[in-house]
Amino acid sequence: MTSSIQVQSEGIKKIDAPSASGANIVLSLGYLLFFIGTWHFLTFWSKAQSFNVVDPLMGVPFRYIMPAFGIGELAVSCLCLFTKKWRLALLLTLWMTLNTAVFRFALGAAGWFHPWVIVGDLTSLLNISSLTSDIIVAAVNVFLCGGALFVLFKNRRAGEDIKLNCPTCGGKTSFGNQWVGRVIKCPHCGNNLHLVRPS
Ligand SMILES: [Zn+2]
Repeated sequence: MTSSIQVQSEGIKKIDAPSASGANIVLSLGYLLFFIGTWHFLTFWSKAQSFNVVDPLMGVPFRYIMPAFGIGELAVSCLCLFTKKWRLALLLTLWMTLNTAVFRFALGAAGWFHPWVIVGDLTSLLNISSLTSDIIVAAVNVFLCGGALFVLFKNRRAGEDIKLNCPTCGGKTSFGNQWVGRVIKCPHCGNNLHLVRPS
């Protein structure tokens, strides 16, 4: 993921990208969501009987619910991997993990204490217990949620944007506090631009 540049009024180009480590986390979340989304999408064709179980909340077999989750996860993974809309991607990731948690708690409240039926194939494939698969699913969701929160918090918009004129071409660039001290390619002329607070 490269820096996200928006052109504002008066030809100011705004830099809005996460830090390098944040960008790596966004990519990891994207790959993970791609894997989970593909997995959920393919459950539609799974032969595992557990997917024919009817979800007590929606009254529809899990076979039809999981692919819908999968399509959402694949869409967000594309946002993470191929676009610069990282804030949107992270907010959607948070929203999805929250939904998963609510869904799971609602199932529990409805007296449904089965293991995650969605990993039915995983348990037989890896020969692991349903408790282990529950723990894996919980850990994946904590990672998704924690990663998204971490990057959003670390790259939160703090105060006013700083505006700087490129010493080479004079083009105006604006950036947030977290970018101070970094060197980027000037979005106007492509020369190195040291992002400092104008004195
Ligand atoms: Zn320039």
